[in-house]
Amino acid sequence: GAFLARTVESRRVRTECSDVLPGGVASNWQDAPPGAVWISHGQGSRVVDLDGTSYVDLHGGFGVNLVGHAHPAVVETIDERVRKGTHFAQPTRDAVVVARLLAERFGLPMWRFGNSGTEATMDAVHLMRAATGRMKIIKVEGSYHGHHDSVQVSVYPSIEEAGPPLRPRSVRYSVSVPPDLARLTVVVPFGDLEAVERALIENAGEIAGMILEPVMMNIGLIPPPDGYLAQLKDLLHRHGAYLAFDEVKTGLSVAPGGASELLGVTPDLICLAKALGGGLPCGAIGGTPDLMRLISEGVYEQVGTFNGNPLTMAVAAVVLRDVLNSDAYRHFDRLRTVMTDEATAILRKWGMPGYVQSYGAKGSVIFHQKLRDYRDFLDYPDEWGHAHWLYQHNGGVFLPPWGKTEQWTLSVQHSDDDVRRFLTNLDTMGRDYA
Ligand code: PLP
Repeated sequence: GAFLARTVESRRVRTECSDVLPGGVASNWQDAPPGAVWISHGQGSRVVDLDGTSYVDLHGGFGVNLVGHAHPAVVETIDERVRKGTHFAQPTRDAVVVARLLAERFGLPMWRFGNSGTEATMDAVHLMRAATGRMKIIKVEGSYHGHHDSVQVSVYPSIEEAGPPLRPRSVRYSVSVPPDLARLTVVVPFGDLEAVERALIENAGEIAGMILEPVMMNIGLIPPPDGYLAQLKDLLHRHGAYLAFDEVKTGLSVAPGGASELLGVTPDLICLAKALGGGLPCGAIGGTPDLMRLISEGVYEQVGTFNGNPLTMAVAAVVLRDVLNSDAYRHFDRLRTVMTDEATAILRKWGMPGYVQSYGAKGSVIFHQKLRDYRDFLDYPDEWGHAHWLYQHNGGVFLPPWGKTEQWTLSVQHSDDDVRRFLTNLDTMGRDYA
């Protein structure tokens, strides 16, 4: 009731525009229950919707806005660049600055750019295929890597489709994925080395590599088992296959050098997007010289009209060099620790099920027993995530829609008061639960 009363204008505009925008939104995932909220503008840690309601923004545009909204350094950079032209489809100096800063942070020496996470993970899959001449890849059940065909497999399969837990089926995410392509994507449970080894043996000489999120962030927030990533890398290499980390979400958010730095494993390829562009569309792929030489030699054509776009590169350079500095990561850690400790205490106080998992700027209240993989996630009732989203929204905090799947994202512009509001809303939810 409170939500519907507050979002009248969003609903009106949405109805009005559904003749030109399918579903009345610009991307299907903007249409989450209980309804798409249209945004007017953002400033600092806040967003304001079309009805004029201001929210503490922990949605962060699905994990993009580590810099917050209209950060002065970003605004100044855009203002300056826009006056010099924003697109030439020729290289500009900022691309070199960004590549060097990423090389320093992530420990992989060579980088190329694109415009989205989808393009980054597509490049990773293509590169692994180009390097090996093998066409199959391994992917984790329940992981999302964007909307190209090879990874649109077993994203959120139903329990009926998914097959035996230790031997998941390759399930097409939509009817538009060609079955012959889906068969090239072998699916394994997260954290299970034996399953990967079995896949490598059963598909001997056919697996180009494996793509995974080192910390899963599209089914709540699931850290890998101890030692899993390092052993995975060894195992794949023993079978002549590569390891690609999809750090589109974890990249700049969990540590300056992503989950690779945080967990001490450097893969063969790293995919970045989201936060790198500071609010502009951006993607990047970093790799070992061995793999990236396939690009320079033209074995793999890594191309795109907007790749290395001057405006995006100018902002990415300032984000990496100035905004997401060591103070920023200290700030994330301080706020996240308060959120994690106090939210945990609130769960206990009211006898709510669950726990809190967080890294750097990201975190999630998981109202369920410890999640280890997608099958655990399937058991986690949707109602909890939805209820939490609604309690936060009614209390002036905008969490990412889709409840249980997503995380909060902090920005350099969030304050202690913002965090307090989140905790107060969780406390209200707990009180009503009890
Ligand atoms: N990889 C991960 C882990 C993601 O969370 C996403 C998007 O949510 C993508 C890839 C795809 O990124 P994009 O939406 O920019 O194509």
